[in-house]
Amino acid sequence: MSSMPALFLGHGSPMNAIEPGEATKFWKTLAAELPRPKAILCISAHWLTRGTCVTTALHPETIHDFGGFPRALHEVQYPAPGSPSLAQRIQQLLSPVAVLEDSQWGLDHGTWSLLLHMYPEADIPVVQLSLDVKLRNAEHYALASRLQTLREEGVLILGSGNVVHNLQLLQSAAASPPPAWALEFETIVKAAILTGDHQALIEYHRIGDTARLAAPTSEHYLPLLYVLAQQRPGEAAKVPFTGIELGTISMLCAQVGSI
Ligand code: ZN
Repeated sequence: MSSMPALFLGHGSPMNAIEPGEATKFWKTLAAELPRPKAILCISAHWLTRGTCVTTALHPETIHDFGGFPRALHEVQYPAPGSPSLAQRIQQLLSPVAVLEDSQWGLDHGTWSLLLHMYPEADIPVVQLSLDVKLRNAEHYALASRLQTLREEGVLILGSGNVVHNLQLLQSAAASPPPAWALEFETIVKAAILTGDHQALIEYHRIGDTARLAAPTSEHYLPLLYVLAQQRPGEAAKVPFTGIELGTISMLCAQVGSI
């Protein structure tokens, strides 16, 4: 089997789940071009734990982990099955790190708001891996690199976050164009992805003020590192989609490996 690409997608507002836009159309088109995955491993910005956890539920619950959105969004269900066998495989690959089994966590909106568009049938097993809040960026990257083999096993590794994510400075959709720092950070990240400068992306804090504004907390940025860690020497990476939504949220998508 050829190697499955790995994807980082900017999920943006939870409303993207039910309101189609440029980004959601792109996700759909991209999924249609990919080989059909045997299973999906999602690393979402919305599952933070102490220690790394993996979901083991056979029928993961659709988690509505947000407030203040319309009832229609709270009613969304994404009934994809889980995959205890993939969870076990992940534990094997990441050993000796003790990956904790979590049978309670289901699929959070970082996962289902993307998959609803990509695989609306919800018939591909999905497992989530959490972000361990205690790890440094380089440790996240090193951990993730041990999952590369999954690509040969037909697993789609999907990072879900946003490269630029500052909710404090969020603007309404009708507001003025995105601030210069948001565009600048997205451009810097894009260039580093294209040149394979993973060290600069791991140490993004060094970029300075722009980085502090773009990623005041790291959870929406970190899933990108999980995806870039799948890149093998000489392998291509692309940035097939960029754009700032609501002023301070980048919808940048990164793809490792070709279709
Ligand atoms: Zn989010």
